[in-house]
Amino acid sequence: MNKGLRKTVIAGNWKMNKTRAEAAELIKQLAVDGDKADVVICVPYTNLQTAAEAVGGSSVKIGAQNVHYEKSGAFTGEISADMLKEIGVEYVIIGHSERRQYFGETDETVNRRTRAALNAGLIPIVCIGELLDEREANITEEVLSRQTKLGLAGFTADEIKKIIIAYEPVWAIGTGKTATAAQAGEACGFIRGVIAKIHGKDVADAVTIQYGGSMNAKNAAELLAQEDVDGGLIGGASLIAEDFGTIINAAQG
Ligand code: PEP
Repeated sequence: MNKGLRKTVIAGNWKMNKTRAEAAELIKQLAVDGDKADVVICVPYTNLQTAAEAVGGSSVKIGAQNVHYEKSGAFTGEISADMLKEIGVEYVIIGHSERRQYFGETDETVNRRTRAALNAGLIPIVCIGELLDEREANITEEVLSRQTKLGLAGFTADEIKKIIIAYEPVWAIGTGKTATAAQAGEACGFIRGVIAKIHGKDVADAVTIQYGGSMNAKNAAELLAQEDVDGGLIGGASLIAEDFGTIINAAQG
C-alpha cells in the first residue's frame, strides 16, 4: 500500500460560476477542518483576489482554471503564471476536457502550460481522460498513455513529483454518470504505471492522481478509498458547501 506516500488533494473546479459576492459567501460557508487532505478551490479569474482574501488564514488554497504558456507579451485575453502567482494562487488546472473540447487545447499546449506553471512555482493539476467512444472502442489505455506521455514530456523526475494528474473520463464530467470505483482505480493505476515506465516506481508512487467526474457527497468515499485514487477534482458538487465538505471528510489522507 503506497497511498500514504503521497498527498491527498481535494480540488473544487467552479468553472464559470459565481460572482465575486457569491464566491465570498460560498467560501464563508466552507468548513474545512482536519488535515486528511489538501483542499483547493479553482475559481474564475475574476474571483481569484476575492477568494484569496476570503480564505484568510484557513488551510484552503486557491487555484486558477487555466494559464498561458508565455511569460508576457501580445496575447490578448490571456493570463500568465507569474500574474497568478502574484495574487496568491498556488494551483492551476491545465487541459480540462472543456478546454480541450471548446478551446482547442492539445497535449502539446498542455505540456507548454505545465512547463510555465512549474517554472513559476505553481502546482499544475493536469487533466486527462478518454471520451465515451474511446472507452467503447477499448482504447482508453492508449488515450491515457498518449495524454500522459505527451502532456508530461520533458519534465525531470523532481518536476513530475510536483504535478497532480486528474483522471477525468470525459463521459463522466457534468453528466451525473460516475465511473465505478473499480474503473477509476484501474485507470489511475494504469496512469501511474505509465509514469513508472518512464521515471521509475519511486517517482510514480509519489505522484498524486485524482479522479474527477460527477464525484459527489454520496460516491466520494468509495472512489477515494481506491489505492491509486489520491483525491478528487470536483465540479458541480464543489459549488455546494455542505457536499464539498462531505467529500473532503471522505478523503483518506
Ligand atoms: C470537472 O469539472 O472537472 C468535473 C469533474 O465536473 P463534475 O464534478 O461536475 O462532473
